[in-house]
Amino acid sequence: VQLVDELAAVVGADHVLSDPERAAPYTTDWTGRFSGEARCVVRPATTAEVAEVMRACARHGATVVPQGGNTGLVGGGVPRNGEVLVTLTRLDALEPVDVAGRTVVAGAGATLGSLQAHAAAAGLSFGVDLAARDSATVGGMVATNAGGLHVLRHGSMRRQVRGVEAVLADGRVLQRLGGLEKDNTGYDLPGLLTGSEGTLAILTRVCVRLVATPPHRATALLAVPDVEEAVSLAGRLQRQLSSSLEALEVLFADGLDMVCGHSGLSQPFARPAACYLVVECASSDDPVDALAAAAGTDAVLDAAVATDRPARARLWAYRELLPEALSARGVPVKLDVTVPLRRLPGFVDALPDVVATVAADAEAVTFGHLAEGNLHVNVLGGGEPAAVEDAVLGAVVKAGGSVSAEHGVGVAKRRWVRFTRGEVDRSVMWAVKQAFDPAGLLNPGVLHEELPTYQQRR
Ligand SMILES: Cc1cc2nc3c(=O)[nH]c(=O)nc-3n(C[C@H](O)[C@H](O)[C@H](O)COP(=O)(O)OP(=O)(O)OC[C@H]3O[C@@H](n4cnc5c(N)ncnc54)[C@H](O)[C@@H]3O)c2cc1C
Repeated sequence: VQLVDELAAVVGADHVLSDPERAAPYTTDWTGRFSGEARCVVRPATTAEVAEVMRACARHGATVVPQGGNTGLVGGGVPRNGEVLVTLTRLDALEPVDVAGRTVVAGAGATLGSLQAHAAAAGLSFGVDLAARDSATVGGMVATNAGGLHVLRHGSMRRQVRGVEAVLADGRVLQRLGGLEKDNTGYDLPGLLTGSEGTLAILTRVCVRLVATPPHRATALLAVPDVEEAVSLAGRLQRQLSSSLEALEVLFADGLDMVCGHSGLSQPFARPAACYLVVECASSDDPVDALAAAAGTDAVLDAAVATDRPARARLWAYRELLPEALSARGVPVKLDVTVPLRRLPGFVDALPDVVATVAADAEAVTFGHLAEGNLHVNVLGGGEPAAVEDAVLGAVVKAGGSVSAEHGVGVAKRRWVRFTRGEVDRSVMWAVKQAFDPAGLLNPGVLHEELPTYQQRR
């Protein structure tokens, strides 16, 4: 029997797409930079179906790419070489919130937006937020250990995960959905699967913690003269607003102009500034006075503050519409990096020269999560992507930073893992991969640069 027929027997013929046209939405990534052919796209609806799909693929030695909302930015969720693409979007159930334990179990295919609404209906919140909330899935966010806008207060996905259910490469189901905050019974397998980018197992359900919802929230857009002042203001805001500070984002004049041009938003202030911060506080008391006091320094050239939801959304739009505005300009090389805060001003100031070494017309548009020194460097019109990566990531390594802050490694950054992970480190990671997936079926070519021995065997 052909694999495609076996898969159709498991999920129904309507949910196996072999026609490239019907498969197209799944085979090119959000940026348009990564694209490939799938043997077929399979859309299981339950954990049992995912397990059956994996057993069939294992019998045929077929390689598999798991996919959630396809918003990943490093090319790890699209096929590269005729793999079977397993999309988890039909596993979107949200179980009742455990209010006492402050946890909820979500299907891997539930979107972040639906999880947020579900938590809000129970009077709680989910600690991670990001602009792709209406498409990004809980499974994809665990698989990439997504960070986002609220890391400084609640941590990234790893801090939220309390348990997982996952289908292994041979079809067995690993279940650890207990949801307990304290549980030291052996290796932290949910933690290991967090950030594994679909290379170890397919996540089908996830238990996440929920957090309290502060009743008051204020957002400010602050204009500052340069990145040096932005970093020192960020330090001051963190010291003075520690318990209520929820977001601290940075963008620059070029990004703000691009958003205004793309969306029709007007410039926020009468005079332009080099650098802008989006700051958000949430607490049990109205945070506006504390925010105004902390931001009341000569470094702040202009400020706008909002407390009601539509006005806050208008301020957030300057930051959140930036990825979309960039995509409207072309297919940028997107590099998500961390730079130690003390080196961040020098790194940002040097970027135009760094990308100019690759192509004279290369343009680097940068924004990011300032509290963690996490910058998203987007290079437009800059010649060969590999040369751009080498130039920018080389500067990151030189500054003592990380070549991947929150988007993962995918296929985009495999080459660079060895620059920040030593040989012993990489060989242990490889041993973990082989323990979970000895036949090398799951997401080959993602995360690991070494071509596995089993690929030579085939
Ligand atoms: C506008 C925009 C803003 C963004 N902002 C942020 C941000 O602030 N912070 C941030 O961290 N990221 C951000 N991202 C990146 C992206 O949203 C995250 O990486 C997200 O976690 C991906 O989720 P997804 O469901 O779309 O996963 P996909 O893109 O479908 O997959 C991503 C990776 O996870 C694997 N995978 C997916 N589902 C599963 C599963 N169920 N089991 C096992 N492996 C799986 C895939 O194989 C792939 O390697 C942004 C993206 C966009 C487009």
